[in-house]
Amino acid sequence: MQSDPGDAQSAPVGIAGGRLTIDLGALTVNYRTLAALSAPAETAAVVKADAYGLGIARAVPALWSAGCRTFFVAYPAEGLAVRAAAPEARIFVLSGPMNEQAAGIITGAGLIPVLNSFEDIALWRRVSGGHAALHVDTGMNRLGVSEAEAKAFAAENSGDAAIPLALVMSHLACADDANHPLNKQQLESFQSVAAFFEGVDTSLANSAGIQMGGDFRRDLTRAGIAMYGGRAANRGDNPMRPVATAEARVLQVRHAAAGGVVGYGAAAKLERDTLVAIVATGYADGYHRSASGAGAPLRGVTAQGACGFIAGKRVPVVGRVSMDLTAFDVTECAGSVTHGDLVELFGANIPLDEVAEAAGTIGYELLTGLGRRYERVYVGGSGA
Ligand SMILES: *Cc1c(COP(=O)(O)O)cnc(C)c1O
Repeated sequence: MQSDPGDAQSAPVGIAGGRLTIDLGALTVNYRTLAALSAPAETAAVVKADAYGLGIARAVPALWSAGCRTFFVAYPAEGLAVRAAAPEARIFVLSGPMNEQAAGIITGAGLIPVLNSFEDIALWRRVSGGHAALHVDTGMNRLGVSEAEAKAFAAENSGDAAIPLALVMSHLACADDANHPLNKQQLESFQSVAAFFEGVDTSLANSAGIQMGGDFRRDLTRAGIAMYGGRAANRGDNPMRPVATAEARVLQVRHAAAGGVVGYGAAAKLERDTLVAIVATGYADGYHRSASGAGAPLRGVTAQGACGFIAGKRVPVVGRVSMDLTAFDVTECAGSVTHGDLVELFGANIPLDEVAEAAGTIGYELLTGLGRRYERVYVGGSGA
């Protein structure tokens, strides 16, 4: 079953201001699309930050049913949530063993830490010495040992104290821009390191890296944002299905006269008589203040704010987004918008990335910042 905003309008929202519909069928279709692009490499699902805000407890079993066997999280606690949802999964923890307590949790739950530094390596040897991944920094200067350190480790990691490596990985800084010269440099750096770890699986590509294909795929790819329906590459159409639909209810429809203002700061000055829908969402729900229709000084790129979708039409945000409330100009839908109706904030009609761009950010931040006030509805079977 696909989420259908037509159906959604007729279903009650309950007592929440808004509803977040998560289409697990679309999630698994996207996973399979990415797995087909990654083949012959295996495709892991990156489910950090509670599956990009959409919920590990539901996303992970759906992905497991779709054939996913390997998962990446950022922190040990997230790994425990994945372990509960998929008892037999292989689970990598990107932020590493961190400290003795965290390393103990990792060991106890059979998680695999990603070792990012010599401190991590020493800690892991001391606490466990079990399977681990090695992260090599190939030019991003985020986490990971340097190319030279990786080669030194390859030479030194032998004998009784050797850590069995499940994976050697690196991360691309600019994969969203396929023409960026750093992609090829990072690939070459990674290939030169990988040669020192014969027989160990390697991983380099995130969602955008998967879309670049070819040598970037290696043995294992790490699918994140594209699986959740977001745009991974800066150019071209987004081939993924939308997974999350956010809607919020209209609390009041009001007539505001030309010459009047709307919202905090009187930032929106009306040039015409305007029908305004006051909607139950705001920045506390992760609907960014910077997506305001006016008076958002931090947003330089887009002149206009975000748009919602209701009664078959796109409706712009008018004035500033506040904590719990956002005003939309529904003048064009006069007669077909009433109290209790739902405005789509993003989903099938308003792409997630369009709202993100209007707010000066990226789909990742919009998803992971969704508030806890939405009523959550999961649709679509794991095998859809
Ligand atoms: C978050 C993350 C990913 C997933 O990236 P997407 O762009 O969402 O596909 C992959 N690898 C690492 C190391 C990450 O931190």
